[in-house]
Amino acid sequence: MAIRIDGKAISAQIKDELKEKVAAYRQQGVEITLAVIQVGNDPASSVYVGNKKKACEYIGIRSLAYELPEETSRKELLDLIAELNGRADVNGILVQLPLPKHLNEEEVLLAISPLKDVDGFHPVNVGNLSIGRKGFVSCTPAGVIELLKRTGIEMEGKECVVLGRSNIVGKPMSMLMLRENATVTVCHSRTKNLKEITKRADILIVAIGKPCFVTADYVKPGAAVIDVGIHRNEDNKLCGDVAFAQVEPVAGAITPVPGGVGPMTIAMLMKNCVESVNLQKS
Ligand code: NAP
Repeated sequence: MAIRIDGKAISAQIKDELKEKVAAYRQQGVEITLAVIQVGNDPASSVYVGNKKKACEYIGIRSLAYELPEETSRKELLDLIAELNGRADVNGILVQLPLPKHLNEEEVLLAISPLKDVDGFHPVNVGNLSIGRKGFVSCTPAGVIELLKRTGIEMEGKECVVLGRSNIVGKPMSMLMLRENATVTVCHSRTKNLKEITKRADILIVAIGKPCFVTADYVKPGAAVIDVGIHRNEDNKLCGDVAFAQVEPVAGAITPVPGGVGPMTIAMLMKNCVESVNLQKS
């Protein structure tokens, strides 16, 4: 039976480490501040924003909440971002997605200073990651790396297959696995003979957004299977992109949903906020 990778415990450990770092910064007179902007009141976004605020409180990061009405104009939002970019007392800026339809997400994300882009979505940070320079890394893939490291799963020289090539998960994930010296294959909707490829993987990272898509016949016995997907099934229960009950007996290690990758995303966002102090110094 596979080792269950406990993302809840690992994220709690990371948050405790960050809490100590933040306390040490405070003793040096450095306060860390994250500005969170939400436009409209999408219920799922409100839950995510609430969780981010709670994590900030726990760690000791000051959070500034900007809850803007649905009808906020492009100019109002861009002006707010410009103001926050210029404020020396703000280290991180996060715009909760999705935005209302009349706002262009790409334009808004581009407006955030790369030095304050704690989500790691700005093309400058994506570019830095791809050429191995310092910068913010997208939180979910960074969280996967921490899960693997802290579970003692070797990445160097291993066959890693990333299922999905989105800008926020699949692509940065493949870059990070390369940085860890894995041999990386990226699969997507046009990939042929998918099962043959995924069955080669020592580490299989699944981010395709299809509930229970990966069944036991996609998995090499003993592989580490990381499930990034989050869905609600017909019974309103959370599930991932991997058919957990079937895959667990075949895998060597596996992340559950919930309690696997999910909790790591906020932990890594907090880590990016804490690290922003160093990035902004250099
Ligand atoms: P996405 O933007 O929809 O990308 C899905 C990727 O999967 C695309 O590259 C797509 O290929 C590929 N794909 C779709 N169907 C496929 C198939 N049948 N065979 C092979 N590849 C296929 O999704 P995402 O934003 O990366 O998110 C993936 C999942 O992770 C979602 O369930 C999302 O909710 C979850 N998620 C979780 C967290 C977290 O904090 N845990 C964070 C972000 C996302 P093409 O490029 O060819 O279309």
